[in-house]
Amino acid sequence: MEKSPVLAIVVPCYKEEAVLHETHKRLSLLLDKLIAERHISQDSYILYVNDGSTDQTWPIIKDLHQNAPYACGLNLAGNVGHQNALMAGLNAVKERCDVAISIDADLQDDVNAIPEMLERYREGCDIVYGVRRERKTDTFFKRSTALAFYKLMKIMGVKSVYNHADYRLMSCRAIQQLCRFRERNLYLRGLVPLIGYQTACVYYNRDKRFAGESKYPFKKMLNFAIDGITSFSVKPVRMVFWLGCIFILIAVCVTIWTLRAYYFHDTVPGWSSLMISLWLVGGTILVSLGIVGEYIGKIYIEVKNRPRYNEEELLLR
Ligand code: UDP
Ligand code: MG
Repeated sequence: MEKSPVLAIVVPCYKEEAVLHETHKRLSLLLDKLIAERHISQDSYILYVNDGSTDQTWPIIKDLHQNAPYACGLNLAGNVGHQNALMAGLNAVKERCDVAISIDADLQDDVNAIPEMLERYREGCDIVYGVRRERKTDTFFKRSTALAFYKLMKIMGVKSVYNHADYRLMSCRAIQQLCRFRERNLYLRGLVPLIGYQTACVYYNRDKRFAGESKYPFKKMLNFAIDGITSFSVKPVRMVFWLGCIFILIAVCVTIWTLRAYYFHDTVPGWSSLMISLWLVGGTILVSLGIVGEYIGKIYIEVKNRPRYNEEELLLR
């Protein structure tokens, strides 16, 4: 009989004292059921990563570790942000599990999607994305800014799964590949699709936060979006270059127009030279910036030192 996989659930927590007990209750009930049905091994566990919270989050995690089943904890020395905390958790479990699922602590992601994710894993998928079916519980503002962001990412050529946050299943080998990306500015939603392997989506309804408040105010969300784009795309730089080209083209048209006006004495002194130099110098500066930017973009890509490829199988004789 095939051995059941060890599942690690990774939960980044920042000031989540209000929800942790309920989160653990729901997750451990689910693990009880999955273990009883032999879908996962009884060595499965939940790793709570405390991202430098200043409230009772860590004492609660320590208490769960002592007194409740499945609970494990990782305490980070300071607040490093959701993405880094999640990565720290994945790094910690990568050699201690067969498959891991990352989920937010606030119970917004429906834990009942986990059995379906595991089913896709059993069918051979290494990565299963949890995708929000609808976002009725989000405010109109959050929905529209999120939509604009996904659209912008697409224009910038960044591959990402629409309406997927960081609720996902990854096999051990997928996590190991993810750990080969050594960059500091983490945007996991963009990195995970670069790994390859067979993937699937599982749809769920996103709930309201169980308790506490969002740790992603608008300013943080905006920074996250800028990080997402600039970590993956040098297209903004190329846009500057093309903008410069458009300026130079306009400069040519303006030159013809002003020379004509000058010829017919249809202008005030100084206007022609001013207009021509304005557009020409502006365009040249932008094109030069674009060229410099292209080189900086290349350096940027190089210093990230991302893996070039991920070998899935090698057949030798
Ligand atoms: N989080 C974290 N570090 C931070 C901010 C958030 O570990 O600096 C965790 C937080 O505890 C939660 C998850 O990241 O488990 C998502 O945060 P939140 O629910 O506040 O974001 P939202 O759902 O509002 O976008
Ligand atoms: Mg949330």
